[in-house]
Amino acid sequence: MSLQIIQYPHPTLRHPSKPLRRVDAELRKIIAQMFELMYEHEGVGLAANQVDLPYRLFVANPEGDPAAKELEGVFINPVISGGRGLDTDEEGCLSIPGIRAPVTRNTTIKIQGYDLNGNDISGEVNGFLARVIQHETDHLDGTLFIDRLGPAQATEIRDALEEFELAYQSKLETGELPSADQVANRLKELERLRT
Ligand code: ZN
Repeated sequence: MSLQIIQYPHPTLRHPSKPLRRVDAELRKIIAQMFELMYEHEGVGLAANQVDLPYRLFVANPEGDPAAKELEGVFINPVISGGRGLDTDEEGCLSIPGIRAPVTRNTTIKIQGYDLNGNDISGEVNGFLARVIQHETDHLDGTLFIDRLGPAQATEIRDALEEFELAYQSKLETGELPSADQVANRLKELERLRT
């Protein structure tokens, strides 16, 4: 399976992901490819639905540096709780390239979940990694950072978003992208296998 990063407003980005039941060899290959794509596009995190897969998992490396392997994290079935403190900082997204805007997030969160080996990765996280985890977990719930903007910022990026919407429409019309129904059927089939 060769993965690609999908862009706003592809419907898979709005698909709430279901928890994974099992990790197998193919899923390990998928995760390796997700890291490759994340580094290639100079990101610090990538959620499964950004590569058109309905699984509750994301990968992250807060430095975005492929040499910093020790900072790589695989988050399977993540659940966030106990958020506290607020901080506003600029965010971008590999599925909405070129758009950046300030987003307010909790500075400290509790994360529960599993890594690729089934180890419990629950704990408290703060700072930039907490922001990345919140952005990526949002993806798994079908939420994008552009949903969390204030009215002034939302107005500021509206034209840019419209460009993405027009590009998506024209790719639908040329058949370069599958219809919403075809996407939904494919996601359902993939969910049947692993969630
Ligand atoms: Zn994103």
